[in-house]
Amino acid sequence: MSISLAEGIRDIPDHPSAGIMFRDITPLLADPEMFEEVITQFVAGLEGEVDLVTGIEARGFILAAPVALALGVGFVPIRKAGKLPYETESKSYQLEYGEATIEVHKDAVKAGQRVLLVDDVLATGGTARAGRELVEGLGGKVIGARFLIELEALEGRKALGDLPVTSLVTY
Ligand code: IMP
Repeated sequence: MSISLAEGIRDIPDHPSAGIMFRDITPLLADPEMFEEVITQFVAGLEGEVDLVTGIEARGFILAAPVALALGVGFVPIRKAGKLPYETESKSYQLEYGEATIEVHKDAVKAGQRVLLVDDVLATGGTARAGRELVEGLGGKVIGARFLIELEALEGRKALGDLPVTSLVTY
């Protein structure tokens, strides 16, 4: 039986502000068959190709950690500014309104390590691009990105240049 992942995503109009259609993945996460299917599709073809998996706070953590375990590699969190306890590298980027900053521990990635980037949603690509720049600033090589959802109209792939990008549900 094939699983429709889109059925696990709930649309919430006007969240977190008017005019935004928020794609809520919590029903999918609550369904072990759907959750497992996401991880299976994320790791396909990557065995032996990745040294670290990085996830972007907060929903990226939920997806990236099981991907790391499935690939037998470590997990590295990329967090919002001020959350990580040790010394960090930071990257700021533009949001539709204002600016955001994300951080990674400066010893989290070693030079030459092959890193997979994971997040729940690819929208404009600003978050993922900043994550990629953080990893590459530490000497890592981002070999690909995996997203559960891609909002195609926002053209986030363009922000990631030549990076191989896989998304499982598109809007
Ligand atoms: P971007 O930087 O514009 O690509 O936005 C991606 C980031 O915003 C991701 O970290 C997502 O978690 C979050 N995001 C944007 N839109 C949604 C949504 O509809 N549902 C859940 N998260 C979203």
